[in-house]
Amino acid sequence: MLWTKFFIPTSKEVPADATVPSHQLMIRAGLIRQVAAGAYTYLPLGYRTLRKIEQIIREEMNAAGGVELHMPAMHPVELWEETGRVEAMGDTLVRLADKPFRRGTVLGPTHEEVITDTVRAYINSYKQLPLTLYQIQTKFRDEARPKSGVLRTREFHMKDAYSFHADKPSLDAAYERMYQAYCRIFERCGLPYVAVEAESGPIGGDASHEFMVVTDAGEDYLVRSAEGTYAANLERATTAPLPTEDTAELEELGEVHTPGICTIEEVSRFLKCKPENMVKTLIYETEDGPLVALVRGDHEANEMKLARAAGGVQLNMASPATIQKVTGADVGFAGPVGLEVRVIADQAVTVMRNAVTGANKTDYHLTGVNPGRDFETTEVADIRYAVESDRSPAGEPLIFEKCIEVGHVFKLGTKYSDAMRATFLDQNGSARPLIMGCYGIGLNRIMAAAIEAFHDDDGIRWPISMAPFAVEIVALDARDEAVQKAARDLHDQLESAGLEVLLDDRDARPGFKFKDADLIGIPLRVVIGKRGLAEGAAEVKRRGEKDARKIPLPDVLAEIRSLAQEPA
Ligand code: ATP
Ligand code: MG
Repeated sequence: MLWTKFFIPTSKEVPADATVPSHQLMIRAGLIRQVAAGAYTYLPLGYRTLRKIEQIIREEMNAAGGVELHMPAMHPVELWEETGRVEAMGDTLVRLADKPFRRGTVLGPTHEEVITDTVRAYINSYKQLPLTLYQIQTKFRDEARPKSGVLRTREFHMKDAYSFHADKPSLDAAYERMYQAYCRIFERCGLPYVAVEAESGPIGGDASHEFMVVTDAGEDYLVRSAEGTYAANLERATTAPLPTEDTAELEELGEVHTPGICTIEEVSRFLKCKPENMVKTLIYETEDGPLVALVRGDHEANEMKLARAAGGVQLNMASPATIQKVTGADVGFAGPVGLEVRVIADQAVTVMRNAVTGANKTDYHLTGVNPGRDFETTEVADIRYAVESDRSPAGEPLIFEKCIEVGHVFKLGTKYSDAMRATFLDQNGSARPLIMGCYGIGLNRIMAAAIEAFHDDDGIRWPISMAPFAVEIVALDARDEAVQKAARDLHDQLESAGLEVLLDDRDARPGFKFKDADLIGIPLRVVIGKRGLAEGAAEVKRRGEKDARKIPLPDVLAEIRSLAQEPA
């Protein structure tokens, strides 16, 4: 490919809102152009990379036994009503309100409903199972804050696979195959990733893993042990139980006047006690009535863990009226002593000594509160977020890292088949719901995450598997016919050897061309100039290497071939 015949609008300008490196570099390197908030054009160079990623994913999905199909982006809203996900998706679901398609149309943020509808139409016997179907399709999500370039957009490409099974072992096997396929995809992309246990909602167990790339541009946190034996999304991370605090003598229960002093910070300042010596009492309303959660003052309650511990209930923060009813006090003075509703205590609360809590009496707190003596802890669970001082379940120190999710595998069970009555007849002829798994991977996000992982001050440093071209030839002295001819000949020779080559044949200064070459980040570079040509040689180097090697022109192909094979 000749640069002058291609379309690579590199630029020095960076839009003010481009704060993360991948966003800045993708715009400067002429890979993408923003059309609207969260919607991008993939310019030719960027599109080549996206297609590379797509190809790797398709090959690995096929190797893992996936069968490709293609579903529409437009869905009748009725399918989403069947599963109750119109409410669950909330504002994220994009609706075409003024274009009735039957009763209404939405643009698919994911395809569980459509695939389940397709499968229930054709699958009716265990003999047709298992089956794994996948597609590579555009998704639409009205993300509240589309940001960080193509890391989070309103329109993006996802590979989504769905597997259907007659029994749990068959799902487990497909899940494992997909998990391994994901590892291969990220390895082939050259992307450093961490597979972590993920929050899987009420389904629980080992039902979900996320594939994370560690980067400051991410919005998630992963928690892992230094030894690498434990890794989980912060939402999900569990920790070793805390030991009993100390052997201090149990103090007497005391009541102190704390007029208008409610928050952990205020009480901590007023009573000169540390937040870790206080109990936070959180009151929720659920479909089963009020629920109280207790966590240490310096810990944050994790509502996903709490909802699961409570048996999969819906949690809403209690209204002031409910708080009055439950505690007999105004908001801000709740505590565990004397409560007569369901209470779930975090494990860390059960080992506290002489704690400070609300007194269930307006303007009062209690001191010297001891679990077991002053209140029962009948229900104890892990209902909080891990913190840096915690240890892994096996007792190892923990590392917290900012990251972004690039892929997700999930054992769905019968959530969708139950809701949509997608059943099959088992060996005994009884109708049973299909058991399902789903597996998603974001193509655009892989591309941006790779740039986050691989760039320097001068530009992108593509791993060769994802690079838009493997080799860039820079022809200096563009007006010198011999140089132009040698560069063209080498270009043709490399191309007919099956290499993807970009020849910068622009009539521009060498410094300008080198800057652009660094910016677009093609992994291998060959420079042909008048001086080298006089010796019958070209200069070869990898992107990021300081010094080039002089290689006789007839040996350049062999040199490039061997460099293309070695890991950078
Ligand atoms: P996040 O928590 O980052 O919003 P998600 O959990 O909602 O992601 P999934 O529904 O699991 O995402 O989608 C599967 C994959 O699709 C993700 O792992 C990610 O790679 C990609 N993806 C999801 N949302 C976006 C988005 N707004 N822009 C680009 N890629 C996305
Ligand atoms: Mg996810």
